[in-house]
Amino acid sequence: MDIVNEHREKCTQCGQCLEVCPRYEDLGLIESLYGYLEGKSEIEPDALFRCLTCGLCAGACPEELGIKMLISPARQKWVGEKGLSDRQTMVDPDAENNIFKKIAEMGEVSSYRDGPGSVVYFPGCAGTYINTNMAKATVALLNKAGVDYTVLSGLDYCCGAVSAGAGNPGPILRHGQKNIGEVRKRGAKVLITACPGCFKAFKDIYPKMFGNLDFEVLQVSQYLERLIEEGKLAPKTALINRVFYHDPCHLTRGMGVYREARNVLEKIPGTELANRTPENSACCGFGGGVRVNYPSESLSVASDRYRAAEKLGCEVIITNCGGCMQNLVEAGKDEKIEVFDLAEYLARAFGINVERDDRKMLEQVNRVYRLCISGYERVDSP
Ligand code: SF4
Ligand code: SF4
Repeated sequence: MDIVNEHREKCTQCGQCLEVCPRYEDLGLIESLYGYLEGKSEIEPDALFRCLTCGLCAGACPEELGIKMLISPARQKWVGEKGLSDRQTMVDPDAENNIFKKIAEMGEVSSYRDGPGSVVYFPGCAGTYINTNMAKATVALLNKAGVDYTVLSGLDYCCGAVSAGAGNPGPILRHGQKNIGEVRKRGAKVLITACPGCFKAFKDIYPKMFGNLDFEVLQVSQYLERLIEEGKLAPKTALINRVFYHDPCHLTRGMGVYREARNVLEKIPGTELANRTPENSACCGFGGGVRVNYPSESLSVASDRYRAAEKLGCEVIITNCGGCMQNLVEAGKDEKIEVFDLAEYLARAFGINVERDDRKMLEQVNRVYRLCISGYERVDSP
């Protein structure tokens, strides 16, 4: 049965998906998507591109449907008909207007140890060029734990998952097999990724496209938990904070990984975790292209995360994804609550404060958005 027929047959029009959706309110959207996917009617771009791809609708639907399952194929249809816009090619590693290429042209990019290693750390494009604190902290922790690691970083190894999410499967097809070969060439038994998108690429998409992998794939929270359990990392320095763990949509709802980061936080002396389950978790506003297509709305969704953390009496938000990190930092410029990446926070429990320049990071990303996207309007001066 095709997706439209399946949805139409099972959907009771109960509206529970829209009760949790941060972006849409009108049940008529479902009919519009049916019509567009069946080729019977056109659709407004807002109906497709306001979606954060957060997956909250699927989690709330009693029939296990939601709206995202219609929006994803509808976006692919749109791209097939109208072609890729610069908002989609900006994350294509081989495109002229790729944002990471532009950041690399602007200045120095950290390089890390490369060569043989039993563990490959994969910081992804975000960790390499934007959220460099994530990569620096993870590398510091791998050194601390005495791991035999190597790093596969930079645009040449872009996983392609974000492009695929934007309706452009080209980069996954071009890079997937090569990336798998690069991990094998280094002799790795384990690959650890920073971002949930890279994690999904290696854990889920690549095996479906290229066959089973002969190395284990873990997201960094899973590997950090393992290092703590094996006694290779024993956080000693007390970090006296009540913390809020912000669940990245594509990790928690997309891949079902949410306990490990919480377990890591609960092992840090002095740290009290306020939200021990992902119940009531919500999107940071970054995903699905919303950050570049609807900048001020995206940052307003991110601000809501501060209100949720505030309500639980937290002084710190911890996250575990480059996109979440970027949006929370940008929306939090005037907030009292601090934001840290999980590895960055754990590193502090070993007295390691990694270098981080939020102002420079925000200036750079807003600059490359303006350079790479026609008509992009910057919201605020970072
Ligand atoms: S929650 Fe599920 S069944 Fe209810 S309207 Fe939404 S998609 Fe249909
Ligand atoms: S994925 Fe998120 S933003 Fe998109 S329709 Fe579902 S709940 Fe709304």
